[in-house]
Amino acid sequence: MINEIFSLDKRSLQRKEKHFDLVVIGGGMAGVCCAITAARQGIKVALIQDRPVLGGNASSEVRLWVLGATSHMGNNNRWSREGGVIDEILVENTFRNREGNPVLFDMVLVDKVLAEKNIELYLNTIVFDIEKSDEKTISLVKAFNPQNQTEYQFSADLFADCSGDGIVSYLSGAAYRIGAEDKEEHLELFAPDKNEYGELLGHSIFFYMKDTGKPVSYVAPEFALKNVEEVIPKIMNPGYFSTGHHGCKYWWLEYGGRIDTIHDTEAIKYELWKVVYGIWDYIKNSGKYPEATNYTLEWVGVIPGKRESRRFKGHYMLTQQDVIEQRNHYDAVAFGGWSIDLHPADGVYSEKNGCNQWHSKGVYPIPYRTYVSYDINNLFIGGRLMSASHVAFGSSRVMCTSAHGAQAIGMAAAMCVKSKRKPADFIEPEEIKKIQRALIATGQYIPQLKLNSFGGVASKAMLSASSVLSLSEISKGDTYFRLDYPVAMLLPFEKSVPHILFDVKSTEATTIDVQIRTSIKNFNFTPDAILFQKTFDVAVGAQTLEVDFDELGIEKGYYFICIMKNPLVEVAESNDLISGVMSVYNYQNPAVSNYGAQRPTEDIGVDSFEFWCPKRRPQGKNLAVKFEPALESFQVENLRSEILRPVIGTNAWVADMKDESPSVSLQWAKSERISEIKLFFDTDADHAMENVQMGHHDSAMPFCVKEYSIMDENGVVLYETKNNHQTVNHIQFPVAVQVNSLKITMQHPSVYTPAALFGLIIN
Ligand SMILES: Cc1cc2nc3c(=O)[nH]c(=O)nc-3n(C[C@H](O)[C@H](O)[C@H](O)COP(=O)(O)OP(=O)(O)OC[C@H]3O[C@@H](n4cnc5c(N)ncnc54)[C@H](O)[C@@H]3O)c2cc1C
Repeated sequence: MINEIFSLDKRSLQRKEKHFDLVVIGGGMAGVCCAITAARQGIKVALIQDRPVLGGNASSEVRLWVLGATSHMGNNNRWSREGGVIDEILVENTFRNREGNPVLFDMVLVDKVLAEKNIELYLNTIVFDIEKSDEKTISLVKAFNPQNQTEYQFSADLFADCSGDGIVSYLSGAAYRIGAEDKEEHLELFAPDKNEYGELLGHSIFFYMKDTGKPVSYVAPEFALKNVEEVIPKIMNPGYFSTGHHGCKYWWLEYGGRIDTIHDTEAIKYELWKVVYGIWDYIKNSGKYPEATNYTLEWVGVIPGKRESRRFKGHYMLTQQDVIEQRNHYDAVAFGGWSIDLHPADGVYSEKNGCNQWHSKGVYPIPYRTYVSYDINNLFIGGRLMSASHVAFGSSRVMCTSAHGAQAIGMAAAMCVKSKRKPADFIEPEEIKKIQRALIATGQYIPQLKLNSFGGVASKAMLSASSVLSLSEISKGDTYFRLDYPVAMLLPFEKSVPHILFDVKSTEATTIDVQIRTSIKNFNFTPDAILFQKTFDVAVGAQTLEVDFDELGIEKGYYFICIMKNPLVEVAESNDLISGVMSVYNYQNPAVSNYGAQRPTEDIGVDSFEFWCPKRRPQGKNLAVKFEPALESFQVENLRSEILRPVIGTNAWVADMKDESPSVSLQWAKSERISEIKLFFDTDADHAMENVQMGHHDSAMPFCVKEYSIMDENGVVLYETKNNHQTVNHIQFPVAVQVNSLKITMQHPSVYTPAALFGLIIN
């Protein structure tokens, strides 16, 4: 028993002092992905999160879905899931939790972090102070955990501030901005009119409702908003409210853009509760929503999701032009692809649209310099703190993009620690390549980047495969797509457009227009160049449509064979799923302001173009097509490319479906000692993996090889698995093995999908 006597002096808290290589402040998606990336490189990391679970705005406390360049699959960014740790997390969550239960997502994150022996996780631990060893160096951060009444001092060589509001960067004295730049500062034509539109995004609080199966009454709290229709006219707009909508669908319940989004956060929270409970009162008691009779409020957020506050000064500020023109940067380490998405500062009370979104034609690179503090020598600025103008931030702020950039921070931190250098030292063009190379080896995609060596000792090996897909046919299934809107097959061609045959049927004699399109920028998937078009007669009944473009000579790249709208005609579909081949549709996805095309006014510095986007499985099948000659874009030599997804070519080796035991072999001139193998499988980087609420058709991606084995030249099995669902498989041998050759034998994922591999690294 403890029986303490009265103390004349005040007591002190228990205090712990700890030293790490890297301290990551903030356990949102940026902080989590930064910490895991750094820890896997072997440095000691503390991850400090002030709340009880990880995820930040994506945690079950706020319940935002983690989005990024795939943009709900509603823009032209094909195969654009970010890669690296954020990809691993989303693939894992889809596997374990494809229904999108937010509570389960929390535990996916906790599980991932606890699995890293180099991370010490401090939940419920609030950083409130810092110390510097000199004007430009942070020596430690101070934190307090009210749950265990312990005060901590975390000293470190490096700090990554991923805390959203930038507590450490702020206290360290680093330069920052809040609000919007004037148009003139960076010639950003989309910069808002500050008075009329406002210059800051507000907070939101979500709610979930539940059908209880019997009538439920509701008595609103006194503080709830009373005159809802009058002050929130948007509630009457179609699509803004419906029973069954919850969580992220209420992103427009936004408030605070006109006040201080840091110091007035509590006031903003009360206002948002007022709004939420008032709206629920209106739904339950106005008599206008009889369909809500059996519904109860199942959950209301108690922590508002914060969109915007401080942005800190880095060595480069990302601007609108970087986003829209997809400017390349020698030090690109991450990319974005969400639209520039600004909101009226009056939020829920504004009569304007809840958001104003404009997409670029493809993904845009983000330079390393945006993540390196300009003022403090040992500080990285991660997540939404990164150096971006208000307009560019409108895109870069989403969580996959935040996390992807923070992975680059984690990698850079590890390199700094190992080489005893500072973050800014890696801004040098030759130095940054080391970070880029190391990131790509984790599966991080960096657009427009070309490195001249990839694969470790695999690059020295002679590569062969038991078979290579020669795609002469995407076989006919039992369904048809009616041409209510245009459809295209997105196909990799090498030198010429083959003769293409579709099966169609029509109820009347008619015609259909077929176009061949491609992207003006060959790494994009916006079909903004029409190369050729022809009109074809279609007779009544079923027939084969022969599309012949007279062997049109072309450059290697992706091409859209577009069949334009004609609701009289149906085109046969296929059940086959082949890596690097897909169908897209010129249709609408209003959730991301896709109305078939983007047509901005000329004065906002944004491009006009059409959207051709996929449909989610089980819809969005390939069309049944025959090619003469066959497509030959699936060679085993593709495994030498550092691009681990389809861009310009498939970049994949794909087996022939008839091959009963597909394999890839590597043969070395002299024996090699190897301790690790990394395999990069196809988990459908085109599929947006919203972590909450939406639900997904597949838990494991249908393109992904589940079963494979790796054998040496003597038939010794070095590794095998039957249960893979992940993109990157990292196989480490406790004792290095000596081999002359390796054979990786795979099972086809299904009868519809041939085995495929995007790359391998062997060291
Ligand atoms: C309503 C709303 C809708 C949005 N819609 C989307 C969307 O649909 N999809 C999407 O991807 N993005 C969306 N965003 C943007 C996105 O959520 C944020 O930009 C993103 O969360 C930024 O990631 P982050 O890791 O930098 O910050 P956060 O997610 O805010 O994480 C920061 C973490 O730091 C912790 N922290 C803060 N201070 C301290 C401290 N002193 N000590 C220790 N820890 C601290 C916080 O608890 C938090 O967990 C939306 C934002 C809001 C608010």
